[in-house]
Amino acid sequence: MALALSALVVFATGVAGGPALAVTPPSVTAGSQFYEVGGTSTPQLRTVVARTGVDVLGASGDTMSIIARPADAEGLRALGFTVSARGPVDRPLGPAAIAADFPAGDEGYHTYAETTTELQKAVSNFPSLAKLTSVGKSYEGRNLNLLKISDNVATDENEPEVLFTCNQHAREHLTTEMCLRIVQRFTSSYATDPAIKKLVDSTEIYVLPNVNPDGSEYDISGGRYHSWRKNRQGPGTDTNRNWGYKWGCCGGSSGSTGSETYRGPSAFSAPETKAVSDYVDSRRIGGVQQIKAHIDFHTYSELVLWPFGYTYNDTAPGMTAAEAKTFSDLGKKMAATNGYTPEQSSDLYITDGAVNDWMWGNHKILSFTFEMYPKGGNPGFYPPDEQIVPQTTRNDKAVDILLNAAFTR
Ligand SMILES: [Zn+2]
Repeated sequence: MALALSALVVFATGVAGGPALAVTPPSVTAGSQFYEVGGTSTPQLRTVVARTGVDVLGASGDTMSIIARPADAEGLRALGFTVSARGPVDRPLGPAAIAADFPAGDEGYHTYAETTTELQKAVSNFPSLAKLTSVGKSYEGRNLNLLKISDNVATDENEPEVLFTCNQHAREHLTTEMCLRIVQRFTSSYATDPAIKKLVDSTEIYVLPNVNPDGSEYDISGGRYHSWRKNRQGPGTDTNRNWGYKWGCCGGSSGSTGSETYRGPSAFSAPETKAVSDYVDSRRIGGVQQIKAHIDFHTYSELVLWPFGYTYNDTAPGMTAAEAKTFSDLGKKMAATNGYTPEQSSDLYITDGAVNDWMWGNHKILSFTFEMYPKGGNPGFYPPDEQIVPQTTRNDKAVDILLNAAFTR
């Protein structure tokens, strides 16, 4: 054990300055397994695991759930972690066709086509409140749909704008349902709920339910789940390591194409992150960013996270102590309503090229990540569709808090 621990220390300090790391990236194809990794109770230990390039599914208490090859599992054991196998991963080869539906029993989830239909229905049912556009196209050419919700929706009024993004990671299907919940609530309750009406009348709400539609369609293709995370550009890029703020700076992503945290060959090399970031850039009008607040929804672990992710430090260039407190206060206030754990992103583990760092670092947008249900372990990325309503309505109050926070920016 002493030997293993000292190896761990060498390993951890050896990569502190950057991503140069002599670890074979895990294969995304044959032989991959689900594992649980014990002894991961601190951000530093979780960062050690993440930096090996294995696919981190979630973290709870002192246990991380990952996908890795048996050789990677052995490597983690050699570092002193307890590693338990939890079964094989099923991934089809080649590009996916359009998914007909979710696997049997989970048809309550919305495919990309069904999601698009829901957005079109919102527009046809509430034409004065909802307007459907697109920020661009995915790698495989799907529209990255953007629904605007506001009174006088056709007009760009002088109101604070708030952005909600979902499904950056393919298999995190509950997040698309979260975006649809926001669409449904702020359109269908407008006429009857004065609190909803007030928010819709005084802000401009933007909802982007599928940042990574190619990946999510692939993940459910063939009537089975495939635990796919990245986009579908070549070996796949982890879109949430591809944003252009301190991209690839700090060992919080991988330069290996086979890794599930592959950051891409350059910042914004993924058409999806390029399109969304171009859109956000375009909302800087007369030198003033119109978007004041943002949530990017993920699963799972039940966390409210805020920047920065690239450093363990609470303050850094571009993040004063007062600004860090604003994030912390607002994050805790939202977490008090949904029971999630609030913390700085790097308290989980180090990431670089993630969306929150870019939104804040480049645009001073109050940008949070919500890691939704479950807290840990089963059912992982695939809760039964009976969980859609309870787990999305669970965030109603937090969404309202964020919308109200946009006024103070
Ligand atoms: Zn995610």
